[in-house]
Amino acid sequence: MRKWTSEIGEEDVGKEVLLFGWVHEVRDLGGLVFLILRDREGFIQITLPKKKVPPETFEIAKKIHRESVIKVIGVVKKEPKAPGGYEVIPKEIEVLNEAAVPLPLEVTEKVPAELDTRLDHRFMDLRKPKVHAIFRIRHQVMQSVRQFLSEEGFIEVHTPKIVSTATEGGTELFPISYFEKEAFLNQSPQLYKQILMGAGFERVFEIGPIFRAEEHNTTRHLNEAISIDIEMSFTDHEGVMNVLERLIRRVYEDVAENCEKFLEWLNVKLEIPEIPFERITYDEALEIAKRKGEEIPWGEDLSTPALKAIGEEIEGHYFIVDWPTESKPFYAMPYEDKPEICKSFDLMKGALELASGAQRIHKYDLLVERIKRCGLSPESFEFYLEAFRYGMPPHAGWGLGAERLLMSMLGLKNIREVVLFPRDRNRLVP
Ligand code: ATP
Ligand code: MG
Repeated sequence: MRKWTSEIGEEDVGKEVLLFGWVHEVRDLGGLVFLILRDREGFIQITLPKKKVPPETFEIAKKIHRESVIKVIGVVKKEPKAPGGYEVIPKEIEVLNEAAVPLPLEVTEKVPAELDTRLDHRFMDLRKPKVHAIFRIRHQVMQSVRQFLSEEGFIEVHTPKIVSTATEGGTELFPISYFEKEAFLNQSPQLYKQILMGAGFERVFEIGPIFRAEEHNTTRHLNEAISIDIEMSFTDHEGVMNVLERLIRRVYEDVAENCEKFLEWLNVKLEIPEIPFERITYDEALEIAKRKGEEIPWGEDLSTPALKAIGEEIEGHYFIVDWPTESKPFYAMPYEDKPEICKSFDLMKGALELASGAQRIHKYDLLVERIKRCGLSPESFEFYLEAFRYGMPPHAGWGLGAERLLMSMLGLKNIREVVLFPRDRNRLVP
């Protein structure tokens, strides 16, 4: 029975174990060779005193290249000086696949590499415990999201990623050829989530890719990202903000509880955020920015320097609410008594936007008016608008960027760190 390195403990001392993994390090002291075997759960020292191991095993260890894949059968010993407190004296080492030399990248991180080089050889980069840890935490985040939303009565759905119209009529679309027609990669599941409210699903969530032809190469934008989306009937923006803040808290709690080892590998101390999150209005956000020398004309989106200024002022997660209607997509619900602002919100942490959401317009006439006002043609939205004519309930929802959530949680500076194979302005491989 194969054991992971992390499973070796007191009960194994004196017993034989079977291990698989990669040769992380080799230290050859002549009559004594140390191998560090690495598997996805950690490390263990394989100790080979010449006189205590079979000669052919000793010879294999002496000749082995780093990052080769090996199988080890050996006896566990307590060894306070070894990483983890145990070592294995091998009876047998089999090289399952030898690694070529030199390596394209240093897995031991003794020589730090540039992000571009790391991403070029991503399979090797992903072997680094610190990098691997990110994806173990990412797995936990997704598990928590699914579990939390399911418990709250949300149904997981999958909507098309090949679409005929832009969600928001924007320019950030990737056109593709779809037989004899032009089509696009979907930039958000927005329209389909809303149609499902018209289909009586009441609460849906989707975890899926969004595609955005962002021209600019920033540390927080990808061209392919994973969005966690919800849509919920018979509620308003406040209702879905409440779901969002409880979800964030739950994700932090679950990661803190189940990912202790990986947080340690990353040297991250998680603080569970207090809820409710602070709410500031768009107007208040403008004031803070202005006080710090970043003046934004009312109605415009908040610039990066403005968000930096605001982020410095407010600790932890916060919502910016009540945005100008003209700054948000056509489907955001304007306030009845003050239609120049709408029931929309952004969830922020520092200067980073994590999510955007709103109560949506559910009345057909108002929706058509808003589509026209935004310079779009209602005809191309007919498949969507039809759902609003025959009993569309009031509803609200949000989209939360999975990568933004992770990078903010782990304090990482570049969004590419939390994606296995990122797609950006310059990168299409690997
Ligand atoms: P930003 O202003 O930061 O570019 P946005 O307002 O255009 O984001 P939304 O359309 O509100 O983005 O999308 C909802 C969420 O999806 C965002 O809050 C963000 O977390 C995530 N997201 C959107 N675009 C990207 C992208 N290009 N790369 C990574 N995540 C993204
Ligand atoms: Mg947004």
